[in-house]
Amino acid sequence: MNTNHFIELQDVSKVYQDMPFSGVQSVNFAIERGSITVIAGESGSGKSTLLRLITGLMSPDRGTVLYKGEEVRGPEQRLIPGHDAMKLVAQDFDLNIYAKVYDNIAALLSNTDLKGKKQKTFEVMEFLRIDHLAEKRAVDLSGGEQQRVAIARAIITGPEVLLMDEPFSQIDPMLKNDLRADIKRMARYLGITVILVSHDPLDGLALADNMIILKEGTVLEKGSPEHLYHHPGHLYTAQLLANCNVLSREEAWEAGIPAQKDHVVIYPEWISLYPGPEADGFLFRDRFFKGFYDEFLLEKNGVQIRAIYTGLNVYKKYDRIPGKINRYLEF
Ligand code: ADP
Ligand code: MG
Repeated sequence: MNTNHFIELQDVSKVYQDMPFSGVQSVNFAIERGSITVIAGESGSGKSTLLRLITGLMSPDRGTVLYKGEEVRGPEQRLIPGHDAMKLVAQDFDLNIYAKVYDNIAALLSNTDLKGKKQKTFEVMEFLRIDHLAEKRAVDLSGGEQQRVAIARAIITGPEVLLMDEPFSQIDPMLKNDLRADIKRMARYLGITVILVSHDPLDGLALADNMIILKEGTVLEKGSPEHLYHHPGHLYTAQLLANCNVLSREEAWEAGIPAQKDHVVIYPEWISLYPGPEADGFLFRDRFFKGFYDEFLLEKNGVQIRAIYTGLNVYKKYDRIPGKINRYLEF
């Protein structure tokens, strides 16, 4: 066992009372200092439970959570639950909604140095680009702004680890990119180790150094976003991370793929469509405009497959389009 890991979970299990298949089972993984880890899985897969176990807000039934090689103590063993070096931004933000933004954040610092307190609070607000909101009440902010206040509260005391539960769930798609960039900046410039969970793994692909795929309370697989996207070890991972076509074995054979296993996965970008004479091809069924590309719904021997099209040709229903499936995976 490598004892140099920053955070390590060894065979961690937690089952909720009277709920035999709840919680998490036999979870093992390690997290390096200063990295961004995204834990992805569908709703109910145990993501929030894992965050509470890591921070010591809950004790495992079995196994150990280590922080810098030392066991994280659970709520039974501490006066104030939660590890001092870790801060968890919960899904409900936990703000004092009728207080001003400034006071929400400054309240976490002591009053022994009032000048320093003000300076530090403005520093953190500027870092998260909410200094212009200082005098507003939290209740008057948008979800995205409240999220930033909650993050400011979490980082102002200088934690080493920041954990976030679904930080993108209440944020407009347009503002997601900004928040992603700021979370990355936090990890890189402040050296904070970030662990976040999301039911939408697309949030993770762009952000994570490492991803952990959780299914029904167990770790299915882990790795870099690029590796998990391009080489998923499980159908679940492919469906979670990619907008993929899933064919049954019979459908695959109809479409010309000699499948041996039950499921065949084809990513839309693994199909190339090109002009020119080609015996083997697809029938055009429909087109969905996606901005910088079109998603084509194609048909091959009655099997429907979605593909990406970036060309300019205009097709009519049942036009023949030459092309081929360059790659597929079997599960
Ligand atoms: P996620 O955050 O991925 O949606 P959770 O960690 O909240 O998943 O929950 C994992 C599983 O444990 C779910 O089946 C959920 O119903 C169950 N669970 C979570 N919290 C409790 C609780 N306090 N009591 C009983 N069961 C719970
Ligand atoms: Mg949750």
